[in-house]
Order: sequence, then C-alpha cells, then structure tokens
Amino acid sequence: MTCTFHPDRETLLGCTRCGRSACPDCLRDAPVGQHCLACVRGLSPEQPLTASDVRLLVAGQRRAQRARTG
Ligand SMILES: [Zn+2]
Ligand SMILES: [Zn+2]
Repeated sequence: MTCTFHPDRETLLGCTRCGRSACPDCLRDAPVGQHCLACVRGLSPEQPLTASDVRLLVAGQRRAQRARTG
C-alpha cells in the first residue's frame, strides 16, 4: 500500500474518514482517528482525487510545514 499523496512512499496507515491510504506526513490527528490532507481540507470522501488535487494538497502541506519550522 502506498500513500495517496506520495506514490513513492509505502505506508500501513490510512485516513479514518475516507479510507485513503496515507503516510504519517499526510495524516493529522482528528477527534476520532486521523484524517488525510483531503479530509482536512474538507474534500468529500466520495470525490476521487485528481492529480492536480494531489499536487495542490501536497504543496499546501509543504507550505504549512515551512511556516511551522520557521
Ligand atoms: Zn504522504
Ligand atoms: Zn481522508
């Protein structure tokens, strides 16, 4: 199983909302379980992610990480 957002990364984890597989970098703690980037952004679990969706989500995540680490 590979991360939905990083096709080159293997992971055993997944989003508890939409069920997509995701690596630890792409999961955020939620009140129940953990949510992937798409769910954190409020995308519908039923909506298939396009390649450009994935690019945008990963780019947004990188920006957030850089902001946090300064
Ligand atoms: Zn990932
Ligand atoms: Zn999800």
